Amino acid sequence: LFDDDFTQGQTTARLTGRRLRHVKEVHRAKVGDTLTVGRLDGNLGTGEVLSMDKDAMELAVSLDAPPPPPLPLTLILALPRPKVLNRVIIAATSMGVKRLVLLNAVRVEKSFWQSPRLSEENLLSQRVLGLEQAKDTRLPEILLKNRFKPFVEDELPAMAVGTEKLAAHPYDAVPCPVRVDGPVTLAVGPEGGFIPYEMDKLKEAGFQAVSMGERILRVESAIPALLSRLYPTF
Ligand code: SAM
Repeated sequence: LFDDDFTQGQTTARLTGRRLRHVKEVHRAKVGDTLTVGRLDGNLGTGEVLSMDKDAMELAVSLDAPPPPPLPLTLILALPRPKVLNRVIIAATSMGVKRLVLLNAVRVEKSFWQSPRLSEENLLSQRVLGLEQAKDTRLPEILLKNRFKPFVEDELPAMAVGTEKLAAHPYDAVPCPVRVDGPVTLAVGPEGGFIPYEMDKLKEAGFQAVSMGERILRVESAIPALLSRLYPTF
């Protein structure tokens, strides 16, 4: 994916750094090959390799295909531990999540909020990896909300208006729908789960507790499992 320095309509592009290494080492690209390329938040298309040396690759680029539409989904996720954060962001982005809210909760360790993985630079690079994985270009929004109550009481109702509101919770919940028609706001809890107070607050904001059954999954497994139930063709 090319970013801001690549304007729609441009016909050549230069690849360097990580992307150059990726297409050389993973795709074994050679002069004359055609790669799938795209502009961040723009179109997808092709890039024919015109020349290549160890520092750069020149491509003839044509961007004319719209990317796949995003899922009409906002994922409200209790901030996961830094060790899994990147994987979760890549997974959510590659599945097409439109907006990701990283939220505080009682069972989120305070130290997680100090992680360098929450830097703008890392959040952007992980989303770009997810987009590239899925041949998508539309960057999902990420919001960091480190106060649960004001977010759920004051911001979430407006954000979730007109969407189906589901809170994934293994207990005292109805079975998670297998398919939804339309926009969803889905809340997923921390490693230790949402506490009863947090579930009450989510319910007051209009959320319905939904369960996938008695097997308790890790957050990084629960998210793809939930999304593939809600959107079987994502
Ligand atoms: N010990 C926690 C508990 O008992 O609630 C487990 C939390 S689980 C590791 C993390 C989050 O993944 C949960 O808060 C929930 O949002 C989601 N989750 C995991 N398994 C689930 C299931 N079977 N049904 C619905 N949600 C699930």
